[in-house]
Formats: sequence, C-alpha cells, structure tokens
Amino acid sequence: LASVVIVGAGQAGFQVAASLRQEGYDGSITLIGDEPGLPYQRPPLSKAYLLGKINENALLFRPTEFFTTQRIELIHDQATAIDRQNRRVLLASGEAAVYDHLVLATGAHNRPLPVPGAELQGVFGVKTKQDADALAPLVKEVRNVVVVGAGFIGLEFAAVAAELGASVHVLELGDRPMARAVSTEMSQLFRQAHEAWGVKFDFRQGLTRIEGDNGKVSAVETSDGRKLPADLVVFGIGVIPNTQLANEAGLAIENGIRVDANLLSSDPHISAIGDVACFPCLQNGERPTRLESVQNAADQARNVAARLLGKPAPYSALPWFWTDQGNLKLQIAGLSTSYDSTVTLGSPETHQLSVLCFRNDQLIAVESCNRPGDHMAARKILSRPPKLTAAEAAAEGFELKAWEA
Ligand code: FAD
Repeated sequence: LASVVIVGAGQAGFQVAASLRQEGYDGSITLIGDEPGLPYQRPPLSKAYLLGKINENALLFRPTEFFTTQRIELIHDQATAIDRQNRRVLLASGEAAVYDHLVLATGAHNRPLPVPGAELQGVFGVKTKQDADALAPLVKEVRNVVVVGAGFIGLEFAAVAAELGASVHVLELGDRPMARAVSTEMSQLFRQAHEAWGVKFDFRQGLTRIEGDNGKVSAVETSDGRKLPADLVVFGIGVIPNTQLANEAGLAIENGIRVDANLLSSDPHISAIGDVACFPCLQNGERPTRLESVQNAADQARNVAARLLGKPAPYSALPWFWTDQGNLKLQIAGLSTSYDSTVTLGSPETHQLSVLCFRNDQLIAVESCNRPGDHMAARKILSRPPKLTAAEAAAEGFELKAWEA
C-alpha cells in the first residue's frame, strides 16, 4: 500500500493518520481537511474552551512539527469528487490526490433550524472552532439566551451560559433532557441540577419563528404562541452525516456511509469511519448504527489503520460517551436505548449516581454521574459478555468495582 488518502481532518481522520505511522506504515499519508488551521478536538468547544478555561493550543491534537516529523501531508482544501476508477480524489483547488486506499472521515453537519429567522445574527449552532470563537465573546455579555434542543450540546451550552450569568431558557420537543441517550433517572438528575443553576425548561415545546431587530435576534415564538426575549439563540437539534461525496461516487448510503463489520464501504478501496459511518454495531444487535462520539471516531480509526497494516478484525469496541455540564460529569458505557429495567447506585441528591440499565436481565449500559470509578469498572464489565443480573446489582451493599474485580 503506497498511499493512503484521508478526507476529513477531524477526530477520526487525524487518528487514522497518527495510528498508521505509530503502527509502522511507511507509505504516503495525505490528510485533506476543509477547516482552517491544524486538526483540533471538538468536545471543549461547548465547554472549557467557551468558558475561556483552555486556550486554542490546548484544542489541537498535535503541534505543526508532528505533521512534518510524521510525514503526514496536511492539505487545506475541499474534496469535491471521488474518481473511483482511477482512484483519485478531486479537490476544489483543481488538484487531485491519488490513493491506494481512501478513508472517508467527513463527519456531520448541524441539522439547521427549520424556522423563519434562523438566518438572523445571534443564532448559532456549535460545531466548529469558528462557531465557538464567534460565540465566546457574546455569551459573556448577553442577558437572555434561548437554547433549542436539550441534547448533550444544548445542555452543555446552557450550563456555560448560566454559569456566565445569563438567563437561560431551553425548548425541547421531547419530554425530558437527553432522552435519546440516557435513562429517565439520569434525565431527572440533570433537569434538577440545571433548574438549580437557574435554567428554565419548556418540554414538548418547539419554536415557530425567531424575531429580529435590525438583523439581530430579539425574541423567539414558542409553538404554543408565547414570546420569549432572546439576544442569543443556540440550537443543538442533531446532525446530518456528510455523505454527499460518497453518494455522488455511488457508494452505498444508509443514514451515513454504509460500511461492513470491517468498516469497509461498498468499494473495497474505501473505508468510512466516525460520525459519517453507519456500521453493524455489535452492542446494538449488529443493526446499522451511526454513533457520534470521540471514542467511536478514534477506535474506528485505529481499527482501519490496523487493517491497512495487515491486521484486520471486525470492529467491536464498546461505545462510551461523556458530557460535562456545570459540576456534573456524566460518563456512559454501552448503549442504553431499549433498556427495560434499571438499578441505581448512589443518590441523585448528592449528584453521585450510577444507573445500571438492563434488557432481558442483561446489563447493557451504565450511566455514571460523578462516579468515575463505576464508569471504569463498567467499561471492563461490558467489554466481555456481562453476566451481571438486575437482582445481583440490587442487593444491599453492591459495588460495581468489587464485582468487576
Ligand atoms: P469531525 O471531527 O466532525 O471531522 C470531520 C471533518 O471533515 C471536519 O473538519 C469537516 O469540515 C471535514 N470535511 C467534511 N467534508 C469534507 C470534504 N469534502 N473535504 C474536506 N474536508 C471535509 N463527543 C464525545 O464523545 N464527548 C463529548 O463531550 C463531545 N462533545 C462535543 C461537543 C461539540 C461542540 C461537538 C460539535 C461534538 C462533540 N462530540 C463529543 C462529538 C465528537 O466531537 C465527534 O463525534 C467527533 O468529532 C467525530 O469525528 P469525525 O472525525 O467523524 O468528524
């Protein structure tokens, strides 16, 4: 394999390049990214970076020298087409990159707010460093913030804005925070914590339009006709995978770029990983699944690098996630969707709570708030077929760590 070309220089794209070199690959590596600057991490954009607690350099995966010494050619350009016949990626600049193997790591973009006024100044999604740089000075001076969507990113932003003294109002179509990702017990803890920080919630509520004054946002109108003052609107209502390039090249698409258990697309010379890849997820009954997390992007990148170096293995890593909101750190091991019973450890009052999620009496996920020991134990337990039953977990004095050991 003389040349690997990677499209998308985010979490997954950077990691394939780094892992290939680390594992001894000696051919050429071309990393093509359409964002300015060096590859950086997104998670702090809605947390520490926005609060000014870490600077720009701390966002970077590696400094410039790394790319030189590791012979990773970083190209700032946009890939516009894949010529599969001649194994070339065409770039907006008119250049082309020739590959023996192509890795698509194009990520996802924010689902846009589908209401009139979404184009006004002061309406933001949080996806890129550019978004965070534009938001950071504003969030320190605004008074009324409306957050649309009570998912991870919306709530992380809500916590930051509340901490900086803004009055924060969250609109959510569902009936509880982070409903897609966590149990009702954990939603409840986060709802109460946010309310204690002064955040107001409106559930089963969307917005019909955003009003402006001189091109700048001034208010939003809720689905039930109320008007909320707003000098900043931040939305986090999900993402759409960046499949255009793959689609136009005729690759199989299904809620992302469809890949097999080895993360190969329908073309054996092209892999897809990270937010854009839809893969048969072992922990989801091998159903086609797309995950949006650092763990997923990084582990899939390592899996592909290993395969390209002659060590193929079906991708089977345990999914895990985290989110930081105020003084709460939530860590999730496994996928809790479709759980049918839970056992809790700790207590919501102290903000130290683990929720063990079971399906058919099988442990499938553990959500831990401010209980990092439980999270680490859960990752080990869930990495092999777990034998822990709900009855065992509910016993007086049960501890995950002791059970794991
Ligand atoms: P990305 O990192 O998005 O990278 C894709 C890159 O490809 C982008 O730079 C894009 O511009 C580029 N690109 C797309 N098309 C082209 C093209 N045609 N040509 C060239 N370049 C192209 N995950 C967690 O686990 N924990 C967290 O706490 C957490 N917090 C987050 C906070 C925020 C604000 C955001 C936005 C995400 C967060 N995530 C978190 C999710 C995590 O960052 C993503 O899952 C991860 O970045 C996915 O990596 P990726 O490489 O697939 O996509």
